[in-house]
Amino acid sequence: MERKSFQLGDIVQMKKNHPCGSNEMEIIRMGMDIRIKCVGCKHSVLIPRAKFEKNMKKVIRPAAPAEPE
Ligand SMILES: [Zn+2]
Repeated sequence: MERKSFQLGDIVQMKKNHPCGSNEMEIIRMGMDIRIKCVGCKHSVLIPRAKFEKNMKKVIRPAAPAEPE
């Protein structure tokens, strides 16, 4: 099974839009739980990593310039 890859600072798209209508979330904290901040309304939520991985659709924009692979 392939793990989704994401890192601090990434802008990700979740399966469901935020109630404010935005579908872009920025990862602002990584740990056992992940804290994401809505790009639209700046509201932040803390969700368990497993739930985050399940609900994340894709990374829209990677954080900083990524290291070459
Ligand atoms: Zn929002």
